[in-house]
Amino acid sequence: MRVGIFKFSSCDGCQLSFINLSGELAELENFSIDYFLEGQSVNNYEYFDFSFVEGSVSTTEEIERIKDIRERSKVLVGIGACAVSGGVQSIRNFRNIDDIKTVYNTVDITKNVLENALPISQVVKVDFEIRGCPVSTDVVKDFINSILIGKSPHNYNYPVCLECKRRGNICLLVLNKPCLGPITTAGCNALCPSVNRGCYGCFGPYKDANIEAFYNLFKEKGWGIRDFIENSLNPYNHLFVEKLWKQNL
Ligand code: SF4
Ligand code: SF4
Ligand code: SF4
Repeated sequence: MRVGIFKFSSCDGCQLSFINLSGELAELENFSIDYFLEGQSVNNYEYFDFSFVEGSVSTTEEIERIKDIRERSKVLVGIGACAVSGGVQSIRNFRNIDDIKTVYNTVDITKNVLENALPISQVVKVDFEIRGCPVSTDVVKDFINSILIGKSPHNYNYPVCLECKRRGNICLLVLNKPCLGPITTAGCNALCPSVNRGCYGCFGPYKDANIEAFYNLFKEKGWGIRDFIENSLNPYNHLFVEKLWKQNL
C-alpha cells in the first residue's frame, strides 16, 4: 500500500500523530510511506493508495494542489479539524479582513488567499475523515490497522455523550455547566467532560444532532449558545458555525 501524507493550511500537529507512530508503521508489511515532507527526506510523488491530508484549503495554489493529490489518490482521508471543518484558519471566515490587517499590517495577507478557509470536502471528494485537534494517535492506528486487514474503519457516527456515559461521568449539564457533547462527534473518549470540563466541540458537529433542541436547552438554562460557540468553537469549526447560523440560531 502506497501512502502519502500531505499538509495544507495547518499547524502540523496532526502529522505528528504519524511521526509518533513511525516505529510501528515501519514494521508494517505492505505499507510504504512514499510521500511525507515533515517526516522523511526522500519522497516520491506519483500515485497513492491512501492519502492523508492535514489542513484547510486557504489559497488558490492549495485548490490546485488538492485537486492534483485527489487525482493521484485512490482513497483520500482528511485528518484533523482544519481538514474536516476549516480549523483555526476559518476564524477569518467570520471576521472583517480590515480587522485582521491591523494585526498583520506588514505583509500582504490577502495575496492568493481565498475568501474563506475551506474544509477539504468543500473542494474535492473526501472518502474518510479522522477528527480531532490534533487527531488521536490511537484513532489513526486503528484506522490504518483496519484498512490493512480490509475492514471498514470505525464509524464515529454518534455524539461525545455516548463515550461520556460509557465512562460513567456525571453529566455536566445536570451540574449546570455548558457542554457541547450532545452535538459533537465522538472519537476522543469524552476527554474534556472526564476532567470536569465542558466539551467545546473540537471534533466537529455530530451529523444527526438535533441542534434546535440543544439550542432550546441552552436557552432554558440562560446560556447564550451563540456566544459560547463563537468564543469556543469558532477556532475549530467553520462547519459548526455555518450549520447554526443557517438555522438562524
Ligand atoms: S487540526 Fe489542530 S492539530 Fe491538526 S493541524 Fe489543525 S490546528 Fe493543528
Ligand atoms: S457531560 Fe457533556 S458529554 Fe457528558 S453526557 Fe453530559 S452533555 Fe454529554
Ligand atoms: S472539546 Fe469535545 S470533542 Fe474535543 S477533546 Fe474535548 S470533549 Fe472531545
